[in-house]
Amino acid sequence: MSFYNEEIKKLKEKDNFRYIHNIEEKNEKFLSINGSNMLNFSSNDYLNLSTDRILIKEFLNKYKEDNEFIFSSTSSRLLTGTSKSYKKLEENIAKLFKKERCLLFNTGYQCNLGVVSSLVNRDDIIFSDKLNHASIIDGMKLAPCEFYRYKHLDYENLEELLERHRKDYKKAIIISESVFSMDGDIADIKKLVELKKKYNCMLMIDEAHAFGIYGKNLAGISDKEDILSEVDIMTATLGKSFASMGAFCVSNNEIIDYLINKANSFIFSTALAPINIMWSNFLIEEKFNIVKEKSKKLNALINEAHNYINDNGKTQIIPIIIGDNNKTVKIAEILQNQGYYILPVRPPTVPVNTSRLRLSLTADITIEEFKKVINIVREAL
Ligand code: PLP
Repeated sequence: MSFYNEEIKKLKEKDNFRYIHNIEEKNEKFLSINGSNMLNFSSNDYLNLSTDRILIKEFLNKYKEDNEFIFSSTSSRLLTGTSKSYKKLEENIAKLFKKERCLLFNTGYQCNLGVVSSLVNRDDIIFSDKLNHASIIDGMKLAPCEFYRYKHLDYENLEELLERHRKDYKKAIIISESVFSMDGDIADIKKLVELKKKYNCMLMIDEAHAFGIYGKNLAGISDKEDILSEVDIMTATLGKSFASMGAFCVSNNEIIDYLINKANSFIFSTALAPINIMWSNFLIEEKFNIVKEKSKKLNALINEAHNYINDNGKTQIIPIIIGDNNKTVKIAEILQNQGYYILPVRPPTVPVNTSRLRLSLTADITIEEFKKVINIVREAL
């Protein structure tokens, strides 16, 4: 048996084998798979904007004759892959985050990879929450310096590490997500700001799962907590709530100029398609009232849902931790057979023995639909 087949066999034996699902169509909060229509509880389309036909039609009618309405940028931003829409989108996003500048990347993965790996030198150090996204971890692996991973949301552990190691290095960066993608819990950004000041570090927050949902400008948890100015660097994706493609880093002029010159994932990749940039601008400049309405609706559902299950959660991501891989897969199958698209999340995406069903709420889901899912899971358990 080849090395690859042996690895695949091992994954299958541990109920850890991944494959691409046969999704045929998506329509608002529903998707169809293998001929059956299901309510989608696994989407990052948190505001259900991606298949909003009315919005899409309006966008097409208005912009399809525009000179920038093309499907490829055909080059990196530093060559010819840029135009006035890119600049406009960067200005729009910088305004939402109250930062001097914004730099677009093609995906959140590429953004974190490029930002984390390029901001540090050999004599620097990174302190990262243990459950930070793979894009941050891979960025640290590419970075020329060492890194420490503090226990998830454990700021005493972070301070111990800062106390012990900070003095041995030049620059230091603390990195955390705001809303964690697999647990739906929230970092204490105020505490992180306090620690970054005390130990002379920079603070980087990934707002991927919060951008579009929380805060006055919908810029995320740092916005909600009114501490945007205290966070040095923020990243987020346009591929979740904003129902578009791409991602960005916001910071001051110095950091953005530096990234334009040093972040390889920005420099050496064809820029996003202009049509995507135009769509993102359309949502921010012309349809922000709809984005805000949808976010309000989602926030109301989040409150009702957490009240129903009586937990301490506060976000749209609700993990139901089962533990065992096989049992998690079975319960996900029961839910799918009853018309609810909910997926099992297993190691290595989450730590061993914490396999879970990951429910993500989207704006158009109703509390009754959520209650039905919870009751099916309770019965299955
Ligand atoms: N950061 C976090 C916390 C994420 O959950 C994701 C999502 O996949 C990303 C970054 C990557 O974003 P993108 O899907 O745009 O590559």
